[in-house]
Amino acid sequence: MIKFLEKLLNWIYVERCYFCGSSDEAKRLCSKCLGSVKILPLQPHSLINGCNVYSASMYDDIVKKLIKRVKYHHDIKLAQEQAKLMADYWLKFNFTEKFVVLPVPQHKNRIRKRRGNHMDIVGKEFCDLLSYTLLPDFLVRIKDTKPQYKLSREEREENLKDAFSLFPEKLPDKSSPILIIDDIKTTGTTLKEIISLLQKNGYTNIRAFTTAKT
Ligand SMILES: [Zn+2]
Repeated sequence: MIKFLEKLLNWIYVERCYFCGSSDEAKRLCSKCLGSVKILPLQPHSLINGCNVYSASMYDDIVKKLIKRVKYHHDIKLAQEQAKLMADYWLKFNFTEKFVVLPVPQHKNRIRKRRGNHMDIVGKEFCDLLSYTLLPDFLVRIKDTKPQYKLSREEREENLKDAFSLFPEKLPDKSSPILIIDDIKTTGTTLKEIISLLQKNGYTNIRAFTTAKT
């Protein structure tokens, strides 16, 4: 009976790949599923207000499932995998700057509803891997915006107008290299709003980096 229970518990508690469910590597993202992620070429993928914007992969298959799981369920092990995917990509650039990392913030109503901002979790893991400084409370979302995916480009811009603010007591040095991070880049409206705000406040060394782009 004890042997049976032991076997049962092992079966229940062994870590399985969230994506294929069949790997016996005891990882939430097995190497085969990770290997199927299409990593983008090592270059900036767009320019917003003169700032380079990078994405590690396209928003499809495994990455789509990964981002959704981290966003809506705060799966810590998968957040670590998301951060690692980003860090592995970022490391290849050999940037010498020690970036100050700003995760794209959520409005406090949404943070309360989802019990935290998933990009703070990913950001912390990302910074731990690269020895960067995470600044989760400097950039705040002051407007409870509608979800962007239902809106046209014009509506997105209107929706996000003056949506963000900077928390003045936490201002990093104006010459600090800033890295804004987010999970998905679609039209880039969110990043544009944040970059404009930072530029208005005198920051010039700004880059943005997302896990995926559509
Ligand atoms: Zn797998």
